[in-house]
Amino acid sequence: MAVRAKKHLGQHFLKDETIAMKIADTLSYQGYKHVLEIGPGMGVLTKYLLKKKVTTHVIEIDRESVAYLKAHYLNLEPRIIEEDFLKYDLSQTFEKESFAVIGNFPYNISSQILFKTLELRHQIPEFSGMFQKEVAQRICSKEGSKVYGILSVLTQAFYDAEYCFTVPPTVFDPPPKVDSGVLFLKRKADYKLPCDESLFFKIVKAAFNQRRKTLRNSLKNFNLSQKLKANVIFGKRPEQLSVEAFIEMTSLIENDQN
Ligand code: SAH
Repeated sequence: MAVRAKKHLGQHFLKDETIAMKIADTLSYQGYKHVLEIGPGMGVLTKYLLKKKVTTHVIEIDRESVAYLKAHYLNLEPRIIEEDFLKYDLSQTFEKESFAVIGNFPYNISSQILFKTLELRHQIPEFSGMFQKEVAQRICSKEGSKVYGILSVLTQAFYDAEYCFTVPPTVFDPPPKVDSGVLFLKRKADYKLPCDESLFFKIVKAAFNQRRKTLRNSLKNFNLSQKLKANVIFGKRPEQLSVEAFIEMTSLIENDQN
């Protein structure tokens, strides 16, 4: 029996097998042995992952979906994690090994899924997922765009981001109210930033939390020296700064002599 869709878990089951296959094909399956699918539901995407030359693990919060998966994918059972992805300690499954992340994500927590991935970037070389279209576009957008923001800068500091394709509501049951978009992230060869990384996160967040202000104003709490504040970069607004400029600015703040 099919799983009854629960709204509070963001359940929109994909009906279109070709799209499931296309999502599975966005990963390269090179350079890691494990893939983790978040929110497999009834396994429409899992089925295609199981054909790849990697070990597929799934994490699913919904007991009914887990029961369905156990009944229909007999070999998967030892690799079904019945937990909340946001709370689960992934080292319990992967220890220090690398794994790719994939999923048709529950949209209510899709940004948090990405933030957790960024925290675990040392273990996650690739990431593919279905988001609300506008969130996927935001993550991939460049400076100067109206939708460029925290998620774009933090993601693109560590990963090359590619918007793959758009998916209409009609291919889901029940259909969501918005279009969806699939994106692919590939970690950069050199993803260690040449600045204090935790300071970089704080600066990007502070800058975009007051996105209409100049950086001189939004970064007041960082106690910038008068000399540093005179630098033209602080007269700009956050959406004007490329990822590289944010990194450079973090170094400037780090080395600022008050
Ligand atoms: N991949 C399936 C289902 C997508 S719907 C398909 O494409 O048809 C999103 C799935 O994420 C649901 O199965 C839902 O139960 C699951 N989910 C929601 N919140 C979760 C969480 N915090 N951790 C793990 N899975 C979650």
